[in-house]
Amino acid sequence: MPPPKTIDSSAKVGVLACIDPRYTARLEKFLVDDKELHGDYDMFCLAGAELGAITHLKWRKVLFEHIKLMIELHKIDSIYCFSHLDCGAYKAFLNLEKDDDANLHSKELRKFKKMILKNFPDMAFRGYLMDLEGNIKLVVKH
Ligand SMILES: [Zn+2]
Repeated sequence: MPPPKTIDSSAKVGVLACIDPRYTARLEKFLVDDKELHGDYDMFCLAGAELGAITHLKWRKVLFEHIKLMIELHKIDSIYCFSHLDCGAYKAFLNLEKDDDANLHSKELRKFKKMILKNFPDMAFRGYLMDLEGNIKLVVKH
């Protein structure tokens, strides 16, 4: 774990993830191990990550206000969104029996990417999908 920064508090990336505790430790390891990030990122969580922002207008507003703050305070230039399979929010918001369709998550991530770019045109975007074995795969990039 790198030491906390004392002078420069800039992060380059804003991370959006789901609240599901099964993925928290794996995601943190990924973000800390990432050679570009080294654990240096702003974190925001919504149930269902991108799907929460797509289906809940109030949540999206709060998220976008935080992205504005991340830009102002920490000069972020990228959003990384982490979706995951077997998501309780996907099942609840989309009335699914099970959530095992990676293509559905990619579709929602692309939808979310469009929302981000409409509001933050200069932002780079990456959408990742985590599976039940803890693998994290890049599925959408801009
Ligand atoms: Zn979830």
